[in-house]
Amino acid sequence: MHFDTTSVPRSLYIHWPFCPYKCHFCNFVALAAHDQYMADYHNALVKEIETFFSRQNSKLTIDTVYLGGGTPSTYPLPLLLDTFGTLKNAVTFSSDYEMSIEVNPGTVSDEQLVAWREMGINRISIGVQSLNEMVLKRLNRHQSTKDVGEVLEKAHRLFSALSIDLILGLPGVSAEQWKETLAQVVQWPIAHISIYFLMVHEQTPLYFGVKSNKITLPPDDEVVDLYYWSIDYLAEHQFVQYEISNFARPGFESRHNKAYWDRVPFKGFGLGACSFDGNRRFQNEKNLMKYINNIGDGKDVIDFSEQLSREQIWLETLMLGLRQKNGMVYEELINFLHDEEKERFKAQVALLCDRSLMKCENGRLQLLPRALAVENEVVEKLSM
Ligand code: SF4
Repeated sequence: MHFDTTSVPRSLYIHWPFCPYKCHFCNFVALAAHDQYMADYHNALVKEIETFFSRQNSKLTIDTVYLGGGTPSTYPLPLLLDTFGTLKNAVTFSSDYEMSIEVNPGTVSDEQLVAWREMGINRISIGVQSLNEMVLKRLNRHQSTKDVGEVLEKAHRLFSALSIDLILGLPGVSAEQWKETLAQVVQWPIAHISIYFLMVHEQTPLYFGVKSNKITLPPDDEVVDLYYWSIDYLAEHQFVQYEISNFARPGFESRHNKAYWDRVPFKGFGLGACSFDGNRRFQNEKNLMKYINNIGDGKDVIDFSEQLSREQIWLETLMLGLRQKNGMVYEELINFLHDEEKERFKAQVALLCDRSLMKCENGRLQLLPRALAVENEVVEKLSM
């Protein structure tokens, strides 16, 4: 099943799966010690991009591009230039486009930053995760606080839209250390902060460490308390929470992520990349050699596709929409439902409002602060 060429994606995702090491908590499509495949992968990626756009009825206008990974800052410059050249031939960028690249500290040079800016990249997302070097090292992430300082300093000279990612709940990071980290990052020249709860994904070294009691995670209630503390602390420092995990100075909210949360069509290219055409979700092949060989043989690289059922659409709409601080238009939710479903939904919303988990104000249904850490439970109550 192919991406519907009559749907018009305005956001693109490009995946670069190579990493200098594999972090013990990572379950992304990321490969360490595979650098010898970079050139072949790049050729396949460019071919996938060219093929997709050659099938479109007209030249698409694109609002956002996100180069994620993996570690895209390890994408060799001449190859990345080629990819962007291909993109620029294939699409038109809207006048206020957002183009982001993910980078890891310790993998970025001045030359790269200058070239990225010339290519049109205008937003840098830095995977800081923690400022505790020992904790990172135990999780096989090899970056120092000095690396973080260097990349910030270099990137700040060229880019105003700088974002950092942090992980909350890492083993070995005390509450005090977390607070010190936030006290430090709010002084940095950044405009956006993403805070993700540590997830223990099955089959990762972190998972086995926790399972065998070699690694102890901080208690859930401590992590949740720190999350709420962080929301208040960042607000005091002009980082407004606009989504469960995301905080920005006004005007620096991620437009690319908003496209995902708003369920508008987007197209992903590369290993394991996901796409959405408005009705179906797709995922590309996750095996590197299969991906490269299939493209070389002119075969499809979509490994999984799914036509969403009415129930799935409802669940996605709620899950993604309620993540956003300004919530969702109540009337649009009601209009989606059949009569008997409407009554149940209204009753559930009333209960959740009584429990101070939600509010409906100015026609919008929004989560209240105490529901932010338990969004899943709220969505479950509202599911069909
Ligand atoms: S750098 Fe990022 S993508 Fe690569 S292994 Fe670590 S967490 Fe995963």
